[in-house]
Amino acid sequence: MTYSKLSAVQFIDAVQRGQVNLEEFYIDMFAELARLNEKYNFLITIAEGKPEKGGGKLAGLPVSVKDCICTKGVQSTAGSRILEGYVPPFDATPVSRIKAEGAKIIGKTAQDEFGFGTFSTNCGFGVPKNPIDPARSCGGSSGGAAGLMKALNMPHIALGQSTGGSISCPASFCGVVGLTPTYGSVSRYGLIDYANSLDKIGPIGKCVEDVALMLSVIAGHDHMDQTTINKKPEDYLRYLSKESLKGVRIGIPKEYMDEGVDANVRQKVMDAIGKMEELGAKTAECSLPNTKYSIPAYYILATTEASTNLAKFCGMRYGAEGVVEGEFNEYFSKVRSKHFGDEAKRRILLGTFARMAGYRDQFYLKVMRVRTMIINDFKLAFKRFDVLIAPTMPVVAPRFSEIKKMTPVENYMMDILTVAPNLAGIPMLSVPCGEVKGMPVGMHILGNHLEEGKILKVGNAFESAAS
Ligand code: GLN
Repeated sequence: MTYSKLSAVQFIDAVQRGQVNLEEFYIDMFAELARLNEKYNFLITIAEGKPEKGGGKLAGLPVSVKDCICTKGVQSTAGSRILEGYVPPFDATPVSRIKAEGAKIIGKTAQDEFGFGTFSTNCGFGVPKNPIDPARSCGGSSGGAAGLMKALNMPHIALGQSTGGSISCPASFCGVVGLTPTYGSVSRYGLIDYANSLDKIGPIGKCVEDVALMLSVIAGHDHMDQTTINKKPEDYLRYLSKESLKGVRIGIPKEYMDEGVDANVRQKVMDAIGKMEELGAKTAECSLPNTKYSIPAYYILATTEASTNLAKFCGMRYGAEGVVEGEFNEYFSKVRSKHFGDEAKRRILLGTFARMAGYRDQFYLKVMRVRTMIINDFKLAFKRFDVLIAPTMPVVAPRFSEIKKMTPVENYMMDILTVAPNLAGIPMLSVPCGEVKGMPVGMHILGNHLEEGKILKVGNAFESAAS
């Protein structure tokens, strides 16, 4: 049997019909992973073996997991040297749910350290390369996940994580589908935190149907994470009809289409919107006026939370240790200086400053108010529209040589289209919508809180019409 054309959903069906020899399938799979990894660095750890359990909704499916999500018995470092060698004695809730449905965790994907980045260039263990052009970035921070999704010609779903765009950005740069669920709809128990009020776990796949299936398995209340929403589990596949978009109201935020966006990228997204009009959708321009505050608000909030989360890596209870000598302050700064990368250090400084007594009112508390304004922008827009559509990223995947020349602020500005939806905690889906100079362009479909069904429906209709 050849697997290269099968989606995850089709593969599971074939397994359930008894058409797949899983033993042989996994031998081929790990040979392929080793070959790809040598060339592209998608995985920090490969976890060989077979599914622990037969049957279930994911019967035999291979799933890769971003390195910041804990996996029992498999090293989980969040891409940081400070956690090198950490082997969790437990599974994160989404991982245990996936395993309970018969899937096999095949390895841990490369990422920016703790999720700090947009290009997966701030990695403790090697930088993943874009499979379409290895001189370019996979995007970040779930770069290994999206790169592997594109390159691996076998059925597979990846689990990624987003704080400010880390599922959408790499999905866009690698030409695959990324789904970031509503904040609180998927448990964060067992996730190595970046910024607790922003972090979400979500799937990356080759098609909309595959990510819808995965969301149905991982979403739902978890008593181990009190921030999960108490909502009945849903079967998201039921939203996917390939029919028309008649009656669907699409808003196009004008701030997301302005000069900051590459003209060719904008054109591809406009063409895609035209296609959706042909499918029956009604479109109109709208405004999200507080977009201009989203980058500073996000980077203050995210680094504030990150700096408190990283405080526990002090060489005593968590992470790397050193030779205990001298004052405590001397000891822990030695351990932290050695094992944290430059970007982690930059964010610790920025975040600690923003929440210091004396600056708290000026930065952190002000940002909390701005966050509410940004949420209200979206709430207002969703009174008029079912979904909003924009480019996922303002550019196609840049070359590593271009990234090297960027200043930290230029780097942060790349997140201009993804941070506001993440601050608002709304669900978003990035789907490929064409190419510019051979590199994929992503279209972002944003929905109101808990309306994953609508964005999946729109994404699926577009994908079917475009293919
Ligand atoms: N690029 C953003 C950052 O560096 C988002 C990363 C993420 O979502 N983990 O913070």
